[in-house]
Amino acid sequence: MTALPEKSQPNIAIRTEILCHHYRMGETVIRAVDGISLEVRSGEFVALLGSSGSGKSSMLNLIAGLDRPTSGAVIVQEQNLARLSREELAKYRRHVVGMVFQSFNLISSMTVTENVELPLRFAEVDRQQRNARVQEAIARVGLGARAHHRPAELSGGEQQRVALARALINRPRLLLADEPTGNLDSHTGTEIMDLIREFNQGLGMTVVMVTHERDLAERYAERMIFLADGKLVDERYNTGVGAATTKAGGAS
Ligand code: ADP
Ligand code: MG
Repeated sequence: MTALPEKSQPNIAIRTEILCHHYRMGETVIRAVDGISLEVRSGEFVALLGSSGSGKSSMLNLIAGLDRPTSGAVIVQEQNLARLSREELAKYRRHVVGMVFQSFNLISSMTVTENVELPLRFAEVDRQQRNARVQEAIARVGLGARAHHRPAELSGGEQQRVALARALINRPRLLLADEPTGNLDSHTGTEIMDLIREFNQGLGMTVVMVTHERDLAERYAERMIFLADGKLVDERYNTGVGAATTKAGGAS
């Protein structure tokens, strides 16, 4: 009697149904993602944990629309990604998803401003609007003074800030972060995590973060999902973490 209607659950940002992604290597099949069903609420901050090779990145790439499932479904904002055409999927990646990686993935020949602006060019936003939005995003991550530097002239933490500004620029609903602090010292890592939390709480972005740093996950994520051998093996809520319950109110 209390069952929710299956179709319209607008508060669910991501739903996967028996999701599989298998790699075939000659005779062997590697089950990188092996039947994962989960739901992420809109505005939730989730950490994906697990040892190396457990399928965390593969899972994130499926949600990002970078890979297609071998079987099963990934439904994001009520769109089944498996059913989207190449063009629709490209549009989805451009407008719905922001992504950051352990290795920052900035273009070394471009300045901070040019790196951050790039997704707006792909989205064909006109020049006038681009400038204002780029400046705003760069200021938001605290890099106003570095706008004309190139990645090689920045520290790791600053480079990750650029990557975050770039991920933010198309105002995506979803931030997917693959080991975003993996190349940073713990102090800088905490600064990056604080920024991600600000995006989550201040802008209402849903965050899925891959990490193997359990302590960071416990401090920042509302929920931890544990993977092993491509399977969801455990799930835990962190009490006291989350938009409604954190002590830190807003701007810091
Ligand atoms: P994690 O991010 O948790 O370290 P991955 O998702 O990168 O794990 O990898 C999961 C499994 O899939 C591993 O066994 C890995 O070797 C394998 N794998 C990942 N990418 C590929 C690929 N492109 N081709 C073949 N096997 C892959
Ligand atoms: Mg990985």
